[in-house]
Amino acid sequence: MSPLTNAHTHLELTDLAHLCPTKPVSFVSWMGRLAWNLRKRSNTQVQASIEHGIAELQVCGTTHVGDITQTWLSVEPLMTSGLQGVVYLEVIGYNKNKAFKRLEQAKIEIGRARRHPNYGAVQVGLSLHAPYSCHPDLLRAGAEWCRAEDVPLCIHTAESPAETKFLLSGKLPFVKGPVASLVKMLLALPASVPGLRPIPYLAQLGVLAARPLLVHAVHVTGDDIGLIAKAGCAVVHCPRSNDRLSCGRMPLERYLAAGVRVYLGTDSRASSPDLDVRAEAEFAQRLHADLVESQKIAQLIHQPFGIDLFRS
Ligand SMILES: [Zn+2]
Repeated sequence: MSPLTNAHTHLELTDLAHLCPTKPVSFVSWMGRLAWNLRKRSNTQVQASIEHGIAELQVCGTTHVGDITQTWLSVEPLMTSGLQGVVYLEVIGYNKNKAFKRLEQAKIEIGRARRHPNYGAVQVGLSLHAPYSCHPDLLRAGAEWCRAEDVPLCIHTAESPAETKFLLSGKLPFVKGPVASLVKMLLALPASVPGLRPIPYLAQLGVLAARPLLVHAVHVTGDDIGLIAKAGCAVVHCPRSNDRLSCGRMPLERYLAAGVRVYLGTDSRASSPDLDVRAEAEFAQRLHADLVESQKIAQLIHQPFGIDLFRS
């Protein structure tokens, strides 16, 4: 059977489909609404959401998945689901003490998962949320540990125009209403503004050396793509989420020309109408119609996703 890979999901957000915009909205205000909705979820609600997400993936015929879990609750259900792929435990934050404590917990949890009797088909990795939401020392230390321990790493990056602007200038996007304080909290200013675009910033911190899976990677220059190709990182293209969150068009043709491995992912139901990666491919075919052959895009969803991702 040919693999069918959805390389980017957040299964624990499946039951937040009401947050999925029907027309393009600002990424930052959407993120604020998401954070607002995540404040008071019980583990029971999260577990139900994960089960619904796994069921939807299976109905779509998915064989391989790349899932990010901020609660870390999707590890066990994915390991026993029959699906293959990688589940990434997410760590986030600018408070260095708190973030490092969480990183240490993640290392223990990943070690425990690796000793699980069902370990193998589903690998367990680390997600460092994004360059704008993690302390630079966390990015550096997390990536270094993944590289040394051969643990798969994932990071959202170069997703919105606001991210690049923030890393270059330290300027926060203007958001009003009840989500404003949450956005400010999420985008707490780092000690010093890196003054670099997302990809060169990750390269400078040594993060690219761990060959992270780069999710979105929309706002990139030719030089950025060169850095990604040289490091041997794969990227995940989520065109429907990018469209609904006003994140722009990822230059798929330039990645393919540079020999970068590209996967497709739906992202979560909070920014995607479904978890069907075939629908993602159809959208991508329309989006890149003049620049990338349809057949090439169709092939992207039939690559397996797992151990071969981070070991050459
Ligand atoms: Zn995501």
